[in-house]
Amino acid sequence: MRSAMKAGFSLVSLTVAMLAGLPATAMAETTVLRDFTLIDGTGKAPAANQALVMTDGRIKWVGPVAKLKAPAGAKVERLKGKYLMPGLIDSHVHLGLVDGITQNLQYQTPENIEKQLRTYAAYGVTTVQTLGTEKDMIFPIQQRRKGRAAMSRVYTVGQGVVFKGSYGGVAGLDQSVATPEEARAMVDREAAKGADLIKLWVDDEFGMLEERMPPPISSAVIDQAHKDGKKAVAHIFYYSNAAELTREGVDAFAHSVRDRAVDDALLGQMKARGVWQMAATLSREASFTYKTLPFLDDPFFARGVTPAVLKELASPERAAKLGAAPNFPKYAPTLQYAMDNFAAEAKAGIRYGMGTDSGPTARFPGYFAHWELELMVKAGVTPMQAITAATSANAEFMGARDIGAVAPGKWADLLVLDRDPTADIRNTRAIDAVYIAGNKVPTIWQTCTGRAADACGPRP
Ligand SMILES: [Zn+2]
Repeated sequence: MRSAMKAGFSLVSLTVAMLAGLPATAMAETTVLRDFTLIDGTGKAPAANQALVMTDGRIKWVGPVAKLKAPAGAKVERLKGKYLMPGLIDSHVHLGLVDGITQNLQYQTPENIEKQLRTYAAYGVTTVQTLGTEKDMIFPIQQRRKGRAAMSRVYTVGQGVVFKGSYGGVAGLDQSVATPEEARAMVDREAAKGADLIKLWVDDEFGMLEERMPPPISSAVIDQAHKDGKKAVAHIFYYSNAAELTREGVDAFAHSVRDRAVDDALLGQMKARGVWQMAATLSREASFTYKTLPFLDDPFFARGVTPAVLKELASPERAAKLGAAPNFPKYAPTLQYAMDNFAAEAKAGIRYGMGTDSGPTARFPGYFAHWELELMVKAGVTPMQAITAATSANAEFMGARDIGAVAPGKWADLLVLDRDPTADIRNTRAIDAVYIAGNKVPTIWQTCTGRAADACGPRP
């Protein structure tokens, strides 16, 4: 029945095209990109002299230029010397929490969320997965990923589950539970709203809070998520919780173990049960170690924020305040554990994605994804492995079948680079163009936030 209907429609389209005196291909919007080196997102070695045909936002064909059959009437773009890869996916973000670097849930409006999704897109992050601090306004925005929006696609957990009195969530959003029954009910509620997966927090902020989510609650969350056909991902900090959650059947960690080194026992259990390190959030941990962030003069960063934010970030008062915080000395060893443990997991064959935890104050949309890739490579994986984590691996974990690779049938969410990112991971910043569903969107090099369009000067 379905295919009969499809055939009927295309017959109608053909007839309309013939009546209008146009070739049938003119009905669709087709673009050909050619002469680039392809990094397809699957980990396959880069291939030179490639071409791609995209129609109505989807990739129709990809292969060597020698085999290209450009459809009549297609727009052709020559990308000689450029590198083409899938748009990046950030598997751990929070949307609409800040205005500048002032954090308050009052800033969570559809307009502010859209502004941030355009910033992600400008940095080549064409899909984000939000992890648990979004009001229900996120669900209509999530639905837009089915079409051709000019901003990043959204996957979401809706609201994550917090154990009453413990760490997690954001002020102003009531998302805490006290019993396994309440936890199961909350999971069902988020699943019914359309959550793509379920999130839980198991932490106590360096022991500053009295509670951590106990096993009867976490196991109820994980079990109910699975009953609802959803994966469960956990915010963790401690080795002991990582081990317990692994026993309980958690699907992934949204941060790495940061209180000690992981060992063969935990790595073996994670591997046996297929637990992913979905996000290692190395950029998050690194950002905490600075009193003044080290990239304020980097135009790739500065273009994405207003001059007022830059000034605030550079202020000696801010540096003094951050340096005096009681937890400040703990951040450097925490980062080191995160780096070492991520490297150990990768080496042990545990699957991993790429995620930053950007969105809260001073953790910047888009820029942090490029910093994260750099830190992953610094920790010990190859640039190609980091790129694969941020594209096809993230898509695989998220069950996002139509993104994450340059292949027929996928959305044409693409990143075009001036230089080879497999030679130097920092070349992901050499952004020439970003496509979402086949449409070019403004890149960060065409952006100058809070200033006149030309005030940031030309692209370096
Ligand atoms: Zn987070």
